[in-house]
Amino acid sequence: MSHSIPVIRTLAPKQKPADESKLAFGQLFTDHMFMMDYVKGQGWINPRIVPYAPLQMDPSTMVFHYGQSVFEGLKAYRCADDTINLFRPHMNFERMNLSDERMAIPPLDEELCVEAVKQLVRLEADWVPSAPDTSLYIRPFVFAADPFLGVRPSNTYHFLVILSPSGPYYPQGLNPIDVYVEDEYVRAVKGGTGFTKCSGNYAASLLSQANAYKSGFVQVLWLDGIHRKYIEEVGAMNVCFVIDGKLVTPMLNGSILPGITRQSVLETAADFGMEVEERLLSIDELGALYTEGRVSEMFGCGTAAVISPVGSLKYQDTVMTFNGGQIGPVSQRMYDTLTGIQYGRLPGPEGWIEKV
Ligand SMILES: *Cc1c(COP(=O)(O)O)cnc(C)c1O
Repeated sequence: MSHSIPVIRTLAPKQKPADESKLAFGQLFTDHMFMMDYVKGQGWINPRIVPYAPLQMDPSTMVFHYGQSVFEGLKAYRCADDTINLFRPHMNFERMNLSDERMAIPPLDEELCVEAVKQLVRLEADWVPSAPDTSLYIRPFVFAADPFLGVRPSNTYHFLVILSPSGPYYPQGLNPIDVYVEDEYVRAVKGGTGFTKCSGNYAASLLSQANAYKSGFVQVLWLDGIHRKYIEEVGAMNVCFVIDGKLVTPMLNGSILPGITRQSVLETAADFGMEVEERLLSIDELGALYTEGRVSEMFGCGTAAVISPVGSLKYQDTVMTFNGGQIGPVSQRMYDTLTGIQYGRLPGPEGWIEKV
């Protein structure tokens, strides 16, 4: 432990959920949160753990107007021996600093952030659920705090970490989802903010998602913003295909979010002995490969769902179905392996797991 963070404990601890099997996602928050502040000229100051509570902010606070804000998402997993695992947490704060740089937000001390997460989760250990496939979702975020309406980077920021006990992402289990190819709106463009977890990216994706739901789909497949033909992501997940037995995923190009699950899937597939390709893949090439019967699986990957098999993909007037709409063997094995490592049932590669 580097140094101990001062704690102000709540005087009014909340009731913990009585039935963990009914936990949803992101609805319930624990008793405490981590917070620190940035002041230009002083840097990041005053790291502290305080009771979870609403923030009071001036209506002119810059984040409300110009969206200068970045977040991360990771989970704490309870193991059978009651220890608590984090999965590659340093990667989240490395990525947060990449996002911060793009959004003109001052960088954070990655070690301090990981240590803050560990101390907060340790304090809230009783909130880490133990029912199958549940976890404690960890949400670090940073936002512009100046009360000012001019358009420029803020001189003050707050960084917080809040915790939310969460159930499985898909309560019905690992069922394949139906997806359509979004060919009207784009999520991100080269030179933009697609590689960051900045709040605005998600605001910009909501209309497509709402339209998808209305038409009976669960997610949209995003194409690149320039040619409108290269496959980028599915919803807020990275996307992978099994083509001729190889694991294929779009290469990182500035508009794709560099997912930690994506990276872990690539490394795990190589471990399975699969060939791995990071490359450009257009929707037309996918269609042609599909017609030749060479695309056996498609799945999304991200921290929330881990692996989300895609049963069908609609593009204009054609529908592709993968593995007969059932979970494919690579998707299933990938899910079992990654969740096995996360929950401590399987040994993972060196450094993937950090104990709280
Ligand atoms: C967070 C996120 C992902 C997945 O990243 P992980 O690190 O695997 O959770 C993929 N795409 C988008 C757009 C995201 O926001």
